[in-house]
Amino acid sequence: MLKSIPLSTPVFNGNENNFSIEALDSNQISTAGKFINEFEEEIKKRIGGFEVAVTNSGTSAIHLALRLLGVGSGDEVLCQSFTFCASAIPIQYLGAKPIFVDSESTTWNICPEILEESILERIKKGKKPKAIVVVDLFGMPAKFKEINVIAAKYGIPIVEDAAEALGSAIDGKASGTFGEFGIYSFNGNKIITTGSGGALVSTDSNAIEKAKYLSVQARENYKYYLHKEIGYNYRMNNMAAAIGLAQIQNLDRKISFRRNIFENYKRLLLDIPGISTIHEPDGFYSNRWLSTFLINKLETGISIEDLRLALIKENIESRYLWNPLHLQPVFKDVPFYGGGSSEKLFGEGICLPSSENLTMTDQERIVEIIVKTLSKR
Ligand SMILES: *Cc1c(COP(=O)(O)O)cnc(C)c1O
Repeated sequence: MLKSIPLSTPVFNGNENNFSIEALDSNQISTAGKFINEFEEEIKKRIGGFEVAVTNSGTSAIHLALRLLGVGSGDEVLCQSFTFCASAIPIQYLGAKPIFVDSESTTWNICPEILEESILERIKKGKKPKAIVVVDLFGMPAKFKEINVIAAKYGIPIVEDAAEALGSAIDGKASGTFGEFGIYSFNGNKIITTGSGGALVSTDSNAIEKAKYLSVQARENYKYYLHKEIGYNYRMNNMAAAIGLAQIQNLDRKISFRRNIFENYKRLLLDIPGISTIHEPDGFYSNRWLSTFLINKLETGISIEDLRLALIKENIESRYLWNPLHLQPVFKDVPFYGGGSSEKLFGEGICLPSSENLTMTDQERIVEIIVKTLSKR
């Protein structure tokens, strides 16, 4: 049987065991315990002193961010279309309406020009958008220099969905810190994991305190159960935080392995006509969570589906890029501003195996299969 190669698996080779046992021994495995604070402190150190609330998922962190920005029934929220559904679903949880915006081809994230056009259009139609959800897809930061200028010009707050971009940066400033709120995800296949989990970050310490309160069912600090607001069961537990603390201690290593994997693919694949990838603009630093490549069908003679099937046959997992949300059946009535850029990326893009423990032999085997598939066309 051929060795199977998954797209992205977690690796636990630090203090995960020790910290988990310590959490169990302390009898604190719920939403109180020292690892929750220590994990928050460690995230805070990595992102330049922003305040942090850890949550039970990245999706819940986005929900809290939008709620804290006052997004509610009837509001409109602009959102990058080329992303995972979790970027947009919390908009609907709050009874608000998403409006999708296309990507540009340099970072694959929200296009500043189309963003500004969409803001002007919505204002003309009678409603100024209440917030903008910007995503740093596959670890590549969005064009925040331009995006922040536009957001400030119209006075619209940004939620930065950096679910995939912990450790990425622009000019040394951490991804997740470019908006009023930022979020990270620690789901099973992200660059670090707590099983499931996330974090909400902001410079606004009152807002982060409020997020912590809302994430434990808005329970008042009182002698008996007292609730004055509707909250959520969204707080991270101490067991998850124990694993998270161990994981983030190794973040730099994880990033350097993933960046190295990407460099290897680049060296082995980019000489082939019709294969291209996404490069870091000046000053941009990507954690290279997943290695992504574009396969031009006309030039290479094969589609990404041909390639995916050829890899599956050899027990190797690859994956399409995110299917743009404006193409999803569930969002068929949502307005979309754009040109075809994310549709092109979806049609040509493929994620290759990127686990930090992928060996050079594994990578050479993957590339060999790609080359063989190309020569058989
Ligand atoms: C993973 C992910 C999320 C959601 O995170 P969960 O922790 O799975 O809820 C949100 N946005 C993007 C872009 C993601 O990749």
